Amino acid sequence: MISVVGVPYDKASSFMQGPAQAPFVIRSAFHSDSSNYFTESGVDLKNHPHWVDAGNIVVRESSPVSSIEAGIENLLSQQPKVLTLGGDHSITYPVLKAVAKKHKELNILHLDAHADLYDNFEGDKYSHACPFARIMEEGLAVRLVQAGIRTLNTHQRQQAAKFGVEVIEMKDWNSTIPFKFLGPVYLSLDMDAIDPAFAPGVSHHEPGGFSSREVISIIQRLKGNLVGADLVEFNPTRDASGITAMLAAKLFKELLDRLLKE
Ligand code: MN
Ligand code: MN
Repeated sequence: MISVVGVPYDKASSFMQGPAQAPFVIRSAFHSDSSNYFTESGVDLKNHPHWVDAGNIVVRESSPVSSIEAGIENLLSQQPKVLTLGGDHSITYPVLKAVAKKHKELNILHLDAHADLYDNFEGDKYSHACPFARIMEEGLAVRLVQAGIRTLNTHQRQQAAKFGVEVIEMKDWNSTIPFKFLGPVYLSLDMDAIDPAFAPGVSHHEPGGFSSREVISIIQRLKGNLVGADLVEFNPTRDASGITAMLAAKLFKELLDRLLKE
């Protein structure tokens, strides 16, 4: 059983705001008459008995980390898996704090244009540029694999080496690289991993990313016991045509399909 939950929070974004609106817009695209409720593998998600929309977490601005962690922990006390709709990428740290309590020896697959490994960003240790530094410092994962990365600077290379992160840079990517994990896996999907030609509705346009199809294939072919996922950094204020909303809804469906499989 999977809980779907929105985290409408974007106060940790360094460049622009907007991702707080994403959970509402993704749900509306998911329910749009322009498509249907079937995943590509043939699962009908409409009235499906094994997932539930748990609404949104109320994030207290004075204590975003603890309120998100508590919200996820509460859901995980009722259902074994959670799929989170962000919000900016800062939410992944508190989500993982809760998930790691439930699922030990956790592996993470992180798809992103950015490594998000800054020790701090402009003085903020909880910026959306930092979640994976916090996650690795606290030992919330035994293995972190990143793909789609195309913005490494010297500091982030040092951080990746320090934490033993397996970084598959976009320049070295090819679609035959398998993603195989032993034990529980959590997938963190930043929409800017995808090329801005396919997904313009993100705060940080970084050309040279995955195609829509490549990300869908990564989700479908991922080997391991997927126990949770998040979809973050969709910024509806930059999505003039609505195409990124439909892509986010498509990825949401394929993530649910993959979570339902184990
Ligand atoms: Mn990110
Ligand atoms: Mn990013």
